[in-house]
Amino acid sequence: MSTLVIDITDLPRQVGSTKDVHLDLPAPQGLGTEVIGAAPGSPLIVDATLTSVDDGVLVRGEADVHIHGECVRCLRDIDEERQVSFDELYFLPEAAAAQRAKGDEEAEDVFLLGDTTLDLEPALRDALVLSLPFRPLCREDCGGLCPDCGERLDDLPADHHHEVLDPRWSALSGLLGDGASDDASDGAPNGEEQS
Ligand SMILES: [Zn+2]
Ligand SMILES: [Zn+2]
Repeated sequence: MSTLVIDITDLPRQVGSTKDVHLDLPAPQGLGTEVIGAAPGSPLIVDATLTSVDDGVLVRGEADVHIHGECVRCLRDIDEERQVSFDELYFLPEAAAAQRAKGDEEAEDVFLLGDTTLDLEPALRDALVLSLPFRPLCREDCGGLCPDCGERLDDLPADHHHEVLDPRWSALSGLLGDGASDDASDGAPNGEEQS
């Protein structure tokens, strides 16, 4: 269950009414992408103002998030503090239904208010995911890993290299050498026994 659910029974439906929210809680699972996001259980601070409008509740807020991820090139940990702001309209279910009835396709994926609650998590997640890199890097020009030994190239001398031939190449050249003199394998259909 989400921990970012706000009780809005004390927010009057009258347009322009506001409620201020301050949350200080451990970050829930799933705030981010598969490779980077809010570290679950890390401190998450959210300050938001909820304002009643015609169709629902407007949410404007900011969150301080501790981001954890992994560099896609060298797998080094990435940890940083990030501030994310979000600005979303949560629709009353009847307002969203009215829009769908008018054929507004975007009404399919709007944020909805609960009967007495507003869940900040989807708005925060969307804003956070948009602000995060698709392919996180520990630094812009991370050298990644040596394909032969798996060490970080950034930690190795610039002239680092390996003399050994890739074993797959040795195996392949062996196969080619043997197969060249074998007439049966040259384009003739074989392997019929499995019928
Ligand atoms: Zn890296
Ligand atoms: Zn190497």
